[in-house]
Amino acid sequence: MSRQRTAALWIGWSGIFLGVTVLLVALRGQFDQAHVTLIYLLLVLLGSASAGRGLGILLAVTGFLLIDYLFQTPYGTLSVDKGLDWLVLLAFLVTAVVATQLLARAGAAAAAASERADEIDRLSSLGAETLSAGRAEDALAAITAVIRERTGVAECELVASDTVTAQDEKAMLLPLVAHGRVVGVLRLADPDGLHLDPPRVRFLHAISYYAALAIDRVRLVAAAEHAEALRQADRLKDAVLASVSHDLRTPLTTIKALARDIAEGGEERAAVIEQQADRLNRMVSDLLDLSRLDAGGVAVKPEVNTAEDLVGAALQQVSGMLQSREVRTDAVAASEIVAGRFDFVHSVRILTNLLENALKYSPPSTAIEVFISREDPFLVIGIADRGIGVPPQERERIFEPFYRPPSSPPDTGGAGLGLAIARRLATAQGGSLVHRDRAGGGSIFELRLPATALPDEAIRE
Ligand code: ADP
Repeated sequence: MSRQRTAALWIGWSGIFLGVTVLLVALRGQFDQAHVTLIYLLLVLLGSASAGRGLGILLAVTGFLLIDYLFQTPYGTLSVDKGLDWLVLLAFLVTAVVATQLLARAGAAAAAASERADEIDRLSSLGAETLSAGRAEDALAAITAVIRERTGVAECELVASDTVTAQDEKAMLLPLVAHGRVVGVLRLADPDGLHLDPPRVRFLHAISYYAALAIDRVRLVAAAEHAEALRQADRLKDAVLASVSHDLRTPLTTIKALARDIAEGGEERAAVIEQQADRLNRMVSDLLDLSRLDAGGVAVKPEVNTAEDLVGAALQQVSGMLQSREVRTDAVAASEIVAGRFDFVHSVRILTNLLENALKYSPPSTAIEVFISREDPFLVIGIADRGIGVPPQERERIFEPFYRPPSSPPDTGGAGLGLAIARRLATAQGGSLVHRDRAGGGSIFELRLPATALPDEAIRE
């Protein structure tokens, strides 16, 4: 309240008090002492409600004296001749003073509450403004500026967690928590020492939440930028891979054609050139396939087929490599026909890769076994060998492109792409491909593809 307004209220209420007193004195014969006391009490309450505790107390004391002097016999003296009149005076004074105090306290509480509400309003708009800064770093800078301005502290720093050093003994450190996690620290220091009153401390605690959000935003932006950089590098790698492998194909076809011509002329070494050109060609097409699979550019055409047909087709594909190798497919002749909905061509390719590996990585004297079973909702085809097996720590890595474990035989003619392609082809059809250890030595590769019931007429055929 301004000084002039307070002075005006004090003068106004003193005038009213005086006027009412003159009126009451004039009508003294018609009023009883209780009426007078109540009228003064009313004036004290109204006065203190409008101008505060100071005026309330002044009016209460003045009323006390006036009642005694003007309205209690003997009139015109401050003495009282009836014992009970003291009681009236005392009751008036106590009621007036207590009521004035209570009114003042309620007024102060209301003022504090409205100040708090204003503070919260200011703070939330401040927080929203600072957080909406275009760049995450600008939001951080804006919040530090606001804190410095509001608290008058010389040094204010927002730091990501774990970077606060031990030399910060004199500084005040406030942990910044966002989404239930400490994301950083608010560090405040001043050469003259920190003098923070309760409203400033409240402000700091409230703004520290916005500061935590700002720090978290900086972190998220950095993570997003990093992920984007990785994605771009990945896209670039795919593009380079696709274009290099594509460009390699043409010269390879020419080399192969020339080698065949020369071989027909009786040059034996030309056959070796042709073989190596074939090998390179396979690698190049594997590379192309891998980059297409990674880019999601391989179409999958699921059709109902039996697992038996699928295994038969794959065995047919590797028949050239089989020579005298024994392949046991006893389990295939189970009483139940196992069928699934899968892309036949892609699935033959998966099994061919697995069979070729089983042949490559197991001794010629051992048999290769093929199992078929149904584990709803999948059909499972297992290719098992008695070869070198795969160490446990390599079991997932062998499915990564170009990865060949150190234990792998040096030259098997592959580039480490077969399993990577096979797994991608399996997952593209809603299936999976994993390696399992085989009891007694060797490996089992398990291919899972979506199973389905065969139509009745197919079973009757
Ligand atoms: P590549 O055969 O060209 O090296 P693959 O992706 O087909 O590439 O296989 C990756 C690696 O997994 C192989 O180098 C080999 O070490 C291991 N591997 C694959 N199949 C078998 C298997 N049946 N037995 C043992 N190791 C295998």
